[in-house]
Amino acid sequence: MIHLYKSTALPVAGLSGFETPLGEEENAIQQTVHRFARDVMRPIGRQLDRMTPEEVIAPGSPFWTAMFEGAQLGLDPRLIAQFPPEMAIRIESLVGEELGWGDPGLAIAMGVATAPLMMAHAVGNQELVDMCTNKIGCWMNTQPDRGSDAAILQREELGAGGRQPVGNVTAKVGADEIVINGQSSAWISNGSVAQVALAYMAADYGDGFYGTGEKSTFTNGIAMIIPLDLPGISRGKPLDKIGQRALPQGEIYFDNVKVPKRFAIALQDDYLGNLASTWSYAGTHMSQVFVGAARAAFELALAYCHERKQGGIPLIDHQMTQLRLGDMLRRLEMARAVARRSLAYARTSPQSHPYVTAQAKVSVTEEAMKITHEAMQLLGGNATTREYPIEKMFRDVRSALIEDGENYVLTSRLGVLAGKLYQNGWTRE
Ligand SMILES: Cc1cc2nc3c(=O)[nH]c(=O)nc-3n(C[C@H](O)[C@H](O)[C@H](O)COP(=O)(O)OP(=O)(O)OC[C@H]3O[C@@H](n4cnc5c(N)ncnc54)[C@H](O)[C@@H]3O)c2cc1C
Repeated sequence: MIHLYKSTALPVAGLSGFETPLGEEENAIQQTVHRFARDVMRPIGRQLDRMTPEEVIAPGSPFWTAMFEGAQLGLDPRLIAQFPPEMAIRIESLVGEELGWGDPGLAIAMGVATAPLMMAHAVGNQELVDMCTNKIGCWMNTQPDRGSDAAILQREELGAGGRQPVGNVTAKVGADEIVINGQSSAWISNGSVAQVALAYMAADYGDGFYGTGEKSTFTNGIAMIIPLDLPGISRGKPLDKIGQRALPQGEIYFDNVKVPKRFAIALQDDYLGNLASTWSYAGTHMSQVFVGAARAAFELALAYCHERKQGGIPLIDHQMTQLRLGDMLRRLEMARAVARRSLAYARTSPQSHPYVTAQAKVSVTEEAMKITHEAMQLLGGNATTREYPIEKMFRDVRSALIEDGENYVLTSRLGVLAGKLYQNGWTRE
């Protein structure tokens, strides 16, 4: 059916671009989060970007203001999930996008802060829920010698004769107690400030770290929620890095740390499924956040092209500039569509998979990088100074190509998945 228009008036466009009409609640939520992103996250994110990692986490730092005020918004994913599925997915997307538009580093800090609590709810353990409520959380999975290798789900991802390494933080699982030793990677988001960790590691259940037969190339694993004030836990120096400097990162050290076994949320056979669930959850958030980050760069370039004149006219009136802005906007719309599709799949499919959400994270962050790169190019020499926020946006987005899984590795794993699906009959009818 052809929808008849009376004119060629400008299309309806909102904060989130060419959006189908938002309902009253959706609009109110988007506006509330947008105000928070504009008035709190942006100024604080820029302030934190110029501070040392030690200053970022010091008492009185604006980091705590952003985290506190963010928590006051009441953006509990469980409340959002009570809306009808399509609406819940859209609200989750709108929220993630606005937070990423405000400051991607802070958006990640706020998102990962609730990961242990979300997992405690998912497994339905009230003691763990109480332990994680109103606490800053982190997701501890990677280790110095177990980066991409920390999230291997298929044997085909290991080199010929290769084995998943045990890594640098391990658990010895007893009848009632788990003893942890070693250190996480320095990349743990919120690692230097977290009070609870959703932790994944290789585990020895009494027969060593590796399984037998088919499982002999994988380490046995354990997932648990760890209160980070237990004796034997210490932190590394907060990480100094190029991008997302508002996000505190750092190692967590374990010296014979004794954790009650009832804090475990997944043992041996449930381990990979549980890891997959957390990773899918993280991947969907990453996608929304970096749509927002890409939008921030696009908007900055669009405004600049209306201010800056060259060749006697504003940049926006040059055909080549119009082409470049059009290309950025098209990529932004594409990234948003991919992010939402993968979120819808993760929330509604009976069997999602972290490589599916991860492929969206790859697409979104690759597009965000192209958009941010082009925005820098459009700002000319000004882009290279610290007076304009584009250099920060560029650094923030650049880190995302490695964060939550390095993009080439994730793409190759999608290829492994395609092969497995084909071998299982997919596309062969
Ligand atoms: C901003 C940020 C936030 C992060 N937050 C967290 C967090 O909250 N929790 C957490 O646990 N971790 C976190 N990480 C860690 C992140 O998940 C890892 O950095 C990422 O998975 C890559 O691991 P790696 O850095 O050890 O790189 P490596 O795995 O060492 O990869 C290095 C290079 O080798 C290549 N490579 C690796 N394996 C293969 C292979 N099998 N075949 C071919 N090439 C390969 C990769 O493509 C890459 O280019 C974060 C990282 C960043 C940057």
